[in-house]
Amino acid sequence: GHNPAKLVAEGLYVNYGGVAAVQGVSFSVDIGQAVGIIGANGAGKTSTLKAVLGLVPRRAERLEYGEVDLKRIPARKVVREGIGYVPEGRHVFGGLSVEKNLLLGAYIQRWNAETKAQVTEIYEMFPVLGEMRTRLAGALSGGQQQMLAIGRALMSKPRLLVLDEPSMGLSPKLVDEVLAVVQRLNRADMGILLVEQNAKLTFEATTYCYVMENGRIEIEGSAAELRTDPRVRKIYLGI
Ligand code: ATP
Repeated sequence: GHNPAKLVAEGLYVNYGGVAAVQGVSFSVDIGQAVGIIGANGAGKTSTLKAVLGLVPRRAERLEYGEVDLKRIPARKVVREGIGYVPEGRHVFGGLSVEKNLLLGAYIQRWNAETKAQVTEIYEMFPVLGEMRTRLAGALSGGQQQMLAIGRALMSKPRLLVLDEPSMGLSPKLVDEVLAVVQRLNRADMGILLVEQNAKLTFEATTYCYVMENGRIEIEGSAAELRTDPRVRKIYLGI
C-alpha cells in the first residue's frame, strides 16, 4: 500500500486566462486528518482541488505530499502516490456496469486477486453496489452513483481521499449516508480533504476547515470554532 503523508499547499494560484480563480491559497491536511474547504459557488474550491491534483495549470510556492513535490508529477501519477479523487458531479460511466466502473478505478492494478479483494471490500462497505454490480451505472440513483464514485476512488487504495461536493444534488438522507461513509473512512485513518457548499455536513465530517471566498481563504479554524463563528453562521449556516 501507499505510505500516509501530509499534504501541504502554500501560495497556490490558478488562473484561467484573465480569471484569477485561486489567489495565493495555503492549507494542509495532516496524516489521517479530515479537513474541509467550504465556500459558495465559484469561490474557487474546485479549482483548488484540481490544482492539487495537477488537473489545471497552477503555480505554487509549495505543493507537497510528504516527500513528493506534486508540482513535478503529472496528474495520473498523483493517484499512484496514494491520493484518491472523487470529482464533482460524480462522473460515473453510465453505459458501463457498476463493477466495470470500479475496475476502471483500479487502472493502476491488474484484474487479479488483489483487485478482486478490493472490489469485495467495496461491496462490503456499500452493499447496494454489490447488489447492483451488473447494472449499468446510469441506472443508479444519484446517491448510489455518489457511492460508486467514492468506491471507484477507493480502488487505488488511497491514504488521502479528496472529495469535491459529494453532497451535491442529494437528499438530506443521502447526505447523511455520504457523511457516514466519510467518517468511517477517516476512522480507518484515511486522510480526508472535503470541498463543500454544505457547511453543516463539512463541520460534522472534519475537524479543521477553511472558508474560501473569491479565490482566497478568508477564515480558518477548527470545525468547532467555525460552527460558532458569527460570520460563518450568518452566511453558511443561515443562522
Ligand atoms: P463550484 O461550487 O461551482 O464548483 P467553486 O468554488 O468550485 O465553485 P471554481 O469552479 O473553482 O469554484 O471556479 C472559480 C472561478 O473560476 C469561477 O469564477 C469560475 O467561473 C472560474 N472558472 C472555473 N473553471 C474555469 C475554466 N475552465 N475557465 C474559465 N474560468 C473558470
